[in-house]
Amino acid sequence: MKITDIAIIGGGPAGLSAAIYAASLGAKVTLIDDGLELGGQLIKQTHKFFGSEKQFAGIRGIEIAEKMIQDIKEYDNITVIANATVTGYYEDEAITIVQGVNGELLKKLKANRIIIATGASENMLPFVNNDLPGVYGAGAVQTLMNLYGVVPGNNILMVGAGNIGLIVSYQLLQAGIKVSAIVEALPKIGGYLVHASKIRRLGIPIYTSHTLKEVYGTDCVERAVISEINRNFEFIPGTEKELEVDTICLAVGLSPLSDLLWQAGCQMKYVTELCGYVALRDDNMKTTKDKIYIAGDVAGIEEASSAMLEGQIAGLNTAVSLGYKCDNYPEQDRKLKAELKELRDNPLSKEIKRGIEKALIKEGRD
Ligand SMILES: Cc1cc2nc3c(=O)[nH]c(=O)nc-3n(C[C@H](O)[C@H](O)[C@H](O)COP(=O)(O)OP(=O)(O)OC[C@H]3O[C@@H](n4cnc5c(N)ncnc54)[C@H](O)[C@@H]3O)c2cc1C
Repeated sequence: MKITDIAIIGGGPAGLSAAIYAASLGAKVTLIDDGLELGGQLIKQTHKFFGSEKQFAGIRGIEIAEKMIQDIKEYDNITVIANATVTGYYEDEAITIVQGVNGELLKKLKANRIIIATGASENMLPFVNNDLPGVYGAGAVQTLMNLYGVVPGNNILMVGAGNIGLIVSYQLLQAGIKVSAIVEALPKIGGYLVHASKIRRLGIPIYTSHTLKEVYGTDCVERAVISEINRNFEFIPGTEKELEVDTICLAVGLSPLSDLLWQAGCQMKYVTELCGYVALRDDNMKTTKDKIYIAGDVAGIEEASSAMLEGQIAGLNTAVSLGYKCDNYPEQDRKLKAELKELRDNPLSKEIKRGIEKALIKEGRD
């Protein structure tokens, strides 16, 4: 069994930031990610980032990932285990790692601290024939298109007009793929108007208070029926429209990928504002288990900018808790927390702040 100071599970913006910070203080870090490349969601994001300037706003996600991966390479105290999934957390506090496309290699790793930064999984929708080939999550569409250069379909119905639905629709259009319509169950568009306007200017209808009712097809998606819904999210009879589409792209939210936290016995809570079950944590990102920290979307669905700051806070505090010296601690810790607070200091983060308040423990131990 291998031993490390800090095991970081997930190599997205949260995990990468945590690794860089902890390694810069001298900690021996092992970073495990199941992707072929590090970067998490960033490596498929070809758009320029919104958010805080200090956290790379105006730069494309793929470029942010490249920069962070380069930084990781500068530290010989970071070991990267890529193309590897952490499958379990055991009573002896060891984790198991299955590596390789066919899971050829099984490793066991014990760490003095673990930072879980596994991100999120895409939500599915219940509708007739939702298992037909041609029904994708928006993240899967982005991966096919932006990472592997594969066209997911020729004629798309996007479900969801939050930022993800709008951005992925625009990227599909840029790739020369037809987007027939966007449907949104809420009475108004959830994403930024700047993204919605770009799509509307291209003549793509965005139907608010509408949802996908059924999909038809023999071997794959051939048609979709959308319908208007009332305030109770019930179909309004007679408002159905049929669309000739071959692909359904679902951008209906994400849920924190918290399985390992459940396994580890962290105290969990359903927090609507954070989009699902999250681990209770203190402001150092420590859970109710002394050795386990969290960062990024697994702590509540938010943005890459906050994921990076949470990663830095977790990286700093795990390293300091192991006795590594940070010359200007606790000032540095206060600075990162103040930056995170400033990032959330806007009307759009009101819900997130309420959610975090519900998940915060002032003092919580095993
Ligand atoms: C279309 C789209 C546009 C976005 N635009 C912006 C934007 O403009 N600005 C912004 O700030 N944010 C944006 N975001 C949000 C941002 O991408 C996420 O909030 C951010 O990536 C979360 O970072 P993370 O490190 O927590 O998770 P992720 O980036 O999801 O990384 C988690 C990593 O952990 C890996 N993993 C999971 N489980 C395991 C396991 N058991 N073993 C090993 N590895 C595992 C995953 O495969 C993944 O590589 C956007 C998101 C999407 C989908």
